[in-house]
Amino acid sequence: MLIDEHWRKEREDEEYYDNISRRLVPAAKKAIAGLYKPSWGETREEHGCAICLQDLQIRQKFRMIPCCYHSFHEPCIFEWLVINRVCPICQSPLPSEEEQRQLDDRDGETDELIIVD
Ligand SMILES: [Zn+2]
Ligand SMILES: [Zn+2]
Repeated sequence: MLIDEHWRKEREDEEYYDNISRRLVPAAKKAIAGLYKPSWGETREEHGCAICLQDLQIRQKFRMIPCCYHSFHEPCIFEWLVINRVCPICQSPLPSEEEQRQLDDRDGETDELIIVD
């Protein structure tokens, strides 16, 4: 069990440093999937989608980054966040896989104290 945990941790560290070396950290898949889906009228991007530079139109699908309320086409922001976890407009970060895992641990194990260095 402990060996498994250790091995898994090492693999994650490798991925982590690999990402640092490219200076881009992808957002956690769970955070991407959980992005808020605004309905038409909730989107505030008068200037359109900052990724593809096209207008947001009523029949399209959108996703909103919850911490800054910036909206984009769903396929555009998904493609962006698997490479770079920050909002393309204001650089607000979404959780990385590592941060998401810590958030999940905190939710799931309320009777255990989580110490983060
Ligand atoms: Zn777009
Ligand atoms: Zn933003």
